[in-house]
Formats: sequence, structure tokens, C-alpha cells
Amino acid sequence: MDIISPAIRRSDVASACSRLLRTKRLRRFCGGTPMRSWSRATTNIPKTEANKVPEVQLFEERSLKLAWYAGWPDGGHNYSYPHQWLRFHCQCAECRQPFSNQRILDPSKIPGNITLLDAFIEGDCVVLEWTDNHKGRINLKWLVENHLHKLEKEDKSELSLKKSHSIGMSVIDYKELEKSEYVRHLYEAILKEGHIKVHGLPTTPGTVKKFVQDVFNLPVQRTIYGEVFDVMSTDKPINVAYSNAELKPHMDLVYYESPPGLQLLHCLKFDESVQGGESILIDGFDVAEKMRYKFPAEFNVLCSTPVTFEKIHYEREWPVHMRYRRPHIVINDKREITGFFWAPQFEGPFFASEGNVERYYDAYRKLASLIDASPTKKSFLMRPGDLIIFNNRTWLHGRNAFTVSEGVRHLQGCYVNIDEFQSQAQVTLFGNKQRIQFPHVGNQSF
Ligand SMILES: [Zn+2]
Repeated sequence: MDIISPAIRRSDVASACSRLLRTKRLRRFCGGTPMRSWSRATTNIPKTEANKVPEVQLFEERSLKLAWYAGWPDGGHNYSYPHQWLRFHCQCAECRQPFSNQRILDPSKIPGNITLLDAFIEGDCVVLEWTDNHKGRINLKWLVENHLHKLEKEDKSELSLKKSHSIGMSVIDYKELEKSEYVRHLYEAILKEGHIKVHGLPTTPGTVKKFVQDVFNLPVQRTIYGEVFDVMSTDKPINVAYSNAELKPHMDLVYYESPPGLQLLHCLKFDESVQGGESILIDGFDVAEKMRYKFPAEFNVLCSTPVTFEKIHYEREWPVHMRYRRPHIVINDKREITGFFWAPQFEGPFFASEGNVERYYDAYRKLASLIDASPTKKSFLMRPGDLIIFNNRTWLHGRNAFTVSEGVRHLQGCYVNIDEFQSQAQVTLFGNKQRIQFPHVGNQSF
């Protein structure tokens, strides 16, 4: 959708030209010294003029102030753009390669004392002239969507998705996924609630991988367990999951730099004679927030103490030796939680100074008690043809012990990379309309 109507563009180009002439004239009157400060008396933004191009309101010593009319996303405000920031973000063909949109400008060569000489609106861009003899341009829509303080403001657009807590689980029928609105619902449930259940899949092996390819249009994330893994009781399990023992809540493959994003578990067989074996999900991010609230000092310990997660196993077809050190909780510059890691089954040796050992284990126990008592816990039985999808970066999963005197419990699973999922969610739900504020997917992005 083109936001600016051609009529507005034409009239604005005319006014921009007169403004440019005036600026140049002013420069001449100043005896050749470039004018770096001029202002226009447009402090009141008429809120009714939706989508009208912004006013170059104030040309300050170190920044350019643009007044955006209501109707622009985030409009109805003035935003300041530092001169140097604008130079770094120049979008002209010399600075960004057309089509690939990759930056070809070498930003390290921009002088630190760079300032703007002139700025005016032309078409859907602001044209900028800097003291390094560069004349460039930046798209207006991009500027209003990416102003400096964008992330400090709460996104009030209808496009933003907020995390929501539901007592049950969203359930969808496999056949419904032929319709695009149900695919959208699938994405939204995973983003907002962290999980969804799909009923009625065929019980043929390999269906789970085909589901990822058909519904998400993505490849599965291959790991040391292959593309698709079978979860069923075996005599010599290479993983506790492949036995009938209780599987305490955990996240998978936290010894990877990028642990799997989505986990899909598809039930192929679950005989009536099997006792127990309920699947369990717990919201790890919710637990981490509770930890911050109830035990702030211990929360800080868990944010600052690296622990070892490892998978060292030589007696398997593909011997592996993986070790990764990270804290249980990762926070960003605003102290928001961006990552959570919990997998007692895969903890390796704890390396720390002697004085830190006790305070770490104390914090660890408190976190474990919050996981056990979490009100977000969901417990349910999988039936043949059921598929659960959950975010392995924000939710813990587990399983109650079960007995298999005669029957079989057989699940097949696979993973989807978290960044590829987030990208696909953006493309499917919103397209290139706006950078959406998703609930945090747990990929540690600040
Ligand atoms: Zn440029």
C-alpha cells in the first residue's frame, strides 16, 4: 500500500523546493558558511491530516527533528534523528545495494564530526546532504517505524501480539489447516501461548516432518538426534526420554549455541494398556519472572552465574562431545528476560569460585521449587494422531513415568529453528507491513 497520495507528493515537492531555495539563500547571506540551524513554526501537528508527509520541523546542531502527522504508524509526534545516525542509515544506491538492500557503504569511514547541511522531503523520502559531500535519502515510512526510541514506546498497533495465559491449550483440527485462517491461528497460538495441540493427523511415521514442511513451509532443524527422532521405550536408551522413566521438566539441547526453537511431538501409538505417561508443559519465562519477583537476589545469581550443559556420549552410533556454558536466565539492557535454560538432565560440572557454590545451589533450589509449583503447568495424555507444538526456548516439557507391560507408547518428534519460525510468523501474519512486537520467543535477541 502506498501511504502518500500522488497529489500530496506533488504539492510537497513544490514546497520542498522553495524551502531548499530559501536555505541556500540563507547560506549565501551568511558569507559562505553553511547554515546549520533553521526552524519552522510548526509546533502544532494537525491530527486530522492522516498520512500527510512529515514536516522538517527543526534543524538542530546535532539532530534533525521531524514532525509526523497522525495517520503514520507511531505518528502524531516529533522524533529527533541525530545527523550521524542518519548518515549511517542512508538508503541511497551508493550506500545500499538496490534489490539485495544490503549495505555497501563502509560505515567506519563516516567522520565522527559529520553534520547535516540540508534536509527536505521529496516524494516518499527525506533527502539529506551531509558535510562529507554525500547527498542521500531515507524512506519516510522506514524513518517513522525505526526512530531511536521506537522500542521504549509500547506498541499500541493492532498488529502487536501480547503474551496470553490460557488455562487449557488451544486445539485445532488437522483438516482445518487447509484454510489459511487456521494456519494464522496456529502461528498466533504458538507466539502468544507458547503451544498448541493439533488433532487428527495420520499416524504414519514421518508425518511430523511433512507437517513442518507443508504447514510452516520450513525445513526441520537437524540435531544430533537426526531430523526426526522416535520417543519410545528401549532397553539401552541414549536418552532418558527413550525409556519409561519419569522425565522431569526441561528444555532440549541447551548445550547447543542455538537450541531448537519449536518442538513437535506426534503420537503414533499410545495403547490403552499403557499406564501413566502424561505429557507436561511449564512456562519457563513465567517461572523466571516469578523468581525475579520472589527472590530478587537469587534471580541475579542465576543471571550472572554460568553453568555447564553437556552431552558427552561415545557409546552411540554418532559419538558426541558437546559442552556449553551459559547462565540459566539471560536478561537484556532493560533487564527483560530474553533467554531461559533449564535441563537438570544435561548439567555438567559446575565451575565457580568456592565462595559462589553455595549461593548458586541455593538459588538453583529456589528456581526448581518454582518450576515444581508453577501454576502454568499443563498435564495431558497424547492420543494417536495428536500433535503438540511448543516453544522449546520458553517452555519446559516433561513426562510422567509409565508402565508398558504389553502396550506401546510411541511418539515421533522434530524441531524448527526459532529464528526461521519467527520470520515465517512475521511473513504469514503481517507481511512487510510493520516490524511487529512479538512476545519474546526466547532466542536471546535483545
Ligand atoms: Zn547514501
